[in-house]
Amino acid sequence: MKIEILGCSGAAAKGFNTTSILINQEVLIDAGSAASVLDEKRLSGIRHILLTHSHIDHIKELPFILDVACFGKGEGIDIWGSSITLNALRKHLFNGILWPKLKQLGLDNSSCRFITLPKDTFNLNGLSAKSFKSEHINGARSFMISEGNKHVIFSGDTSYVPRLFNLAASLSGRLKLFFVEASFPDRMIEVARLTGHLTPSIIGRELHRFKRTRVIAYHIKPRYFEEVTTDMPEGMGYVRGGEVFNI
Ligand SMILES: [Zn+2]
Ligand SMILES: [Zn+2]
Repeated sequence: MKIEILGCSGAAAKGFNTTSILINQEVLIDAGSAASVLDEKRLSGIRHILLTHSHIDHIKELPFILDVACFGKGEGIDIWGSSITLNALRKHLFNGILWPKLKQLGLDNSSCRFITLPKDTFNLNGLSAKSFKSEHINGARSFMISEGNKHVIFSGDTSYVPRLFNLAASLSGRLKLFFVEASFPDRMIEVARLTGHLTPSIIGRELHRFKRTRVIAYHIKPRYFEEVTTDMPEGMGYVRGGEVFNI
């Protein structure tokens, strides 16, 4: 499995792109930055977009990705999200005010499908995916992406969810990478709690459970980047965008 971090920041700033993570060239987790990072050929290759939630740092380039990915090819693109997330997009983004309605764009058809995430595992061109409820806003989800016996988890934006860490720990060495959001530094732990986010020390206290998994912080807010990475306990990695993982 090839994982490209196109962007992973909790806000946009010079040198920091918002969240978009490309897997095996075809599956995109969140639509925060792909259109401004990938060329047209690579954008056209995206077949699935999995949305963690509707916050703007995760969906802001969706219209521009669809502009490229939905036209001029036969295979179509599937956009997966919770029903709450997909309804929010229809109501607040593709509403004829911020951007044309899906019907006006000619996208409300077989070339561009909005699909509500199923409860069970679903297939994505050779990969499998499963979503889990996260604690952030209504409809927010975490994702586990699997290829055979190798798993990767993306927490999405979330506050502390014991069941996510329990699931991740239960996979032991089969979980190759565990991407966990760390939006704020530890001194802002109360802000993190109120806004449904994590800080390094909250992840750090769980770290002993992941001896055979790389735990990697992402979704760091650019203005706190130095502080957050300084707060990180030994044994925890982080990404800021541009990294590529092969597992
Ligand atoms: Zn976010
Ligand atoms: Zn969010």
